[in-house]
Amino acid sequence: MNVMINEIQTQCISRRGWNQPIGVLGVRYADLFGPRFLRIRIWFTAAISLFGVGFVDANEEDVLELPVRFHLVRGVTQIVEGEKLENWVTKDQVEQVLLPEVNRIWMQAKIRFLCESVSEETISQSPERDQIVKQLTNIKRGEDSESSIRLCEKLVDPTKFDRYSMNLYFLPYVGRTFQGIADFGGNRVVVGEWSDKATGGREAPEKVLLTEPEPFMKGSLGRTLSHELGHNLRLKHPAKDATPMGRIMGGGKHGYLLTPEEIAIARESAQKHLKNWLMKKRELDRN
Ligand SMILES: [Zn+2]
Repeated sequence: MNVMINEIQTQCISRRGWNQPIGVLGVRYADLFGPRFLRIRIWFTAAISLFGVGFVDANEEDVLELPVRFHLVRGVTQIVEGEKLENWVTKDQVEQVLLPEVNRIWMQAKIRFLCESVSEETISQSPERDQIVKQLTNIKRGEDSESSIRLCEKLVDPTKFDRYSMNLYFLPYVGRTFQGIADFGGNRVVVGEWSDKATGGREAPEKVLLTEPEPFMKGSLGRTLSHELGHNLRLKHPAKDATPMGRIMGGGKHGYLLTPEEIAIARESAQKHLKNWLMKKRELDRN
């Protein structure tokens, strides 16, 4: 808006060739009601209202809201280091603790995740199930993470997948020292409710914290979800020495920060995901 005022001010002065401009816009009081200034006032009012309205709209539209479907997978037990691991996160915890934490973290990018639904679903009953669970349990870091996502896919009910939302799957454990798995640029995330990352896999996995107050110490499900959603919004891990600040995408230090470059990439990607969602909404509205 300042730009507009300065522009008008400059135009006024140069067109009229005032010797001694007086007043806020550099206008002689005698000219205030003259025809030329009236024209300028009309332009000025139009510019303010156009620019002002545009500005308010941009602010409101600025927050990108992406739908997420939570999948709480039931009926799966994984045994790691003699410990029997089962899912324990509840629908209430998802809605009241996890989602607000993810949104707290992502608000710096003006991206808000909306709960499309929380689906409590039973693990696949296919005869290969036990074999796939075993494979997933024994995955180690350095192995192709895409294969873990595909393994998870085979364990869950495909009819519960919503291709228009981000689908967040909760399993007890997703591999040694892993906390979550993303689908780069896609719309699936899998997180483990138990993790042995803190001990580098030397001890039995522990229940992951739902949230952790800053600064980052051992991490939480809220932060892991936020990190994996970052991958789905096309963010990569930064170089180890990229910044001394703790970042959500990791690098030298784990934390909660997104850089301006990351925000730009994530928002561009979010807009693409959003287009899909709007298509679905239109379809639903039609039917
Ligand atoms: Zn990662």
